[in-house]
Amino acid sequence: MNSNIQQFDGAYEALIKIVGTENVTREEYDLICYEKDFSLSLTARKFMPDFAIHVRTTRQASEVIKLANRYKIPIVPRGGGTNPWGGVIPANGGIVIDMRKMDRILKVDRENGTVAVQAGVVIWNLVKHLEKYGVFVADKPESWFAATIGARTQTNGTGYYNSKYGRFIDQIVCLEVVLPTGEVIKTDPPKVYDPGSGYDLTRLFSNAEGTLGIITEVTLRIRPLPEHRVVEVLEFPTYKDAVKAVVAIRDSGLVPETIETMDGKRYDRSLHAVYIDSQEPYHPSRVSVLRKPPPEIANDAGVMVIAFAGAKKLAVTQVELVHEIYQKCGGKLVPDWCQEALLASKEAYPHNPAPHDSTLMGKPFKYALGTTIPLERATEVFQTYLKLVDKYNVESRGIEAIYGAPDFHATICAQIYVDERNKTEVQIARKLIDEVHHLVIGLGGSIGGHGGLGMMRIRYVKNQRGTALELARKMKRLLDPNNIMNPGKKLKIKIREG
Ligand SMILES: Cc1cc2nc3c(=O)[nH]c(=O)nc-3n(C[C@H](O)[C@H](O)[C@H](O)COP(=O)(O)OP(=O)(O)OC[C@H]3O[C@@H](n4cnc5c(N)ncnc54)[C@H](O)[C@@H]3O)c2cc1C
Repeated sequence: MNSNIQQFDGAYEALIKIVGTENVTREEYDLICYEKDFSLSLTARKFMPDFAIHVRTTRQASEVIKLANRYKIPIVPRGGGTNPWGGVIPANGGIVIDMRKMDRILKVDRENGTVAVQAGVVIWNLVKHLEKYGVFVADKPESWFAATIGARTQTNGTGYYNSKYGRFIDQIVCLEVVLPTGEVIKTDPPKVYDPGSGYDLTRLFSNAEGTLGIITEVTLRIRPLPEHRVVEVLEFPTYKDAVKAVVAIRDSGLVPETIETMDGKRYDRSLHAVYIDSQEPYHPSRVSVLRKPPPEIANDAGVMVIAFAGAKKLAVTQVELVHEIYQKCGGKLVPDWCQEALLASKEAYPHNPAPHDSTLMGKPFKYALGTTIPLERATEVFQTYLKLVDKYNVESRGIEAIYGAPDFHATICAQIYVDERNKTEVQIARKLIDEVHHLVIGLGGSIGGHGGLGMMRIRYVKNQRGTALELARKMKRLLDPNNIMNPGKKLKIKIREG
């Protein structure tokens, strides 16, 4: 329920004093932009915030939190708004803090191997900046053109470098956090890995989905750009064969930078995303690399993207060794032009007005699955997902998995096309999402593996966390006694009173 705007007149004036008139709005036409993210609409109900503001400094963020405590107004920190599970939907109205004007790269410290940035920096901008120094941050999600560093710390995402360097959380050296009371802390020494002079606060405040404070600055590990990188795309007779090859690669001790698998359908959809036949009118902003139709592939075939990077000799030797492994599992290289098209499709999001054929389908794709599962169970999830797609008769965009260090766990993503204006379609999608998440929990997987829980997946949290949940609630109450930070996310906890 939205807050009573009259009641917040005082808050509005105070917000203007903190961030300036041009950085506060309570006009409906502005607020509409903040009522949604990339998730499937849960209901026809709108979740409009009362105010949306931009902050530029840690001090402003701290003043805003103090004010929100005074008025008991919820705060929802927001980055690029690409969350697939309703993480930035203002479930209880309040103030959406748009972090994207905190976009300064503060310091590249080659000596200590770190970079310090403000939380609103977009990953892509950081990557481009760091290239000038010959270094990179090991994070490459498909949403890197829009996703912000502060948000990455809060959802502990996956990306193309996971197999070698781990998840985003493994790249964090230190966080600056504005606590729910307005106090500002640094979680760790910003220059050196701290093996244990205190509790691991960096991890505590990571992956919190904005419920434990506002992240204002982040110090990340940087690494030299690899001398050499080899990327190969392979096709397998079945998805099961592709997963078998991943197990064999894990057991061989090789260290790929990336391993990703997908089914034939996902591969086919990706190639079609960059295919334009000569009849189609040219659109200057559309990425097109394929001028001939993609080759036929069975829906349940397997495709693997694998990369090795580092010193040239090492990368090349690892590629030679991996060839022996995947050949034993029936894998063979796809033609060069298909590899080029697949990799281009992954870069296509920002430029392509019809990303991954949503427009052709007449409806956008929505995430149906984004979970982490032990490697050995990946095939089972794949097969059950396909059965559910048949059972509910939905149009799927296929399934893919990224494998992450240290144990090659599989983070599996799948999307379906849903017309959100159609109530029946939304209900069916929700049923499918429900079944597939219960399956994942039953198999010992984690539901928060891709984008956190948001509003949509909070109903599984009890099953997932068991008795640890009560301790988490106690911690949240201790740090955020008025429950102002992103209420309705991460934990089911009593919303503000009055
Ligand atoms: C097309 C597409 C592809 C995607 N691909 C990937 C992928 O490959 N890997 C992956 O992991 N995810 C992926 N995602 C999901 C999403 O991009 C990630 O979860 C990303 O980290 C969200 O970044 P954002 O800036 O958009 O965050 P938002 O959606 O704005 O926010 C996400 C969460 O972080 C909180 N938050 C944001 N900023 C702050 C802050 N400064 N302080 C405290 N809390 C904050 C929000 O309250 C919210 O709970 C994809 C999404 C889309 C739409």
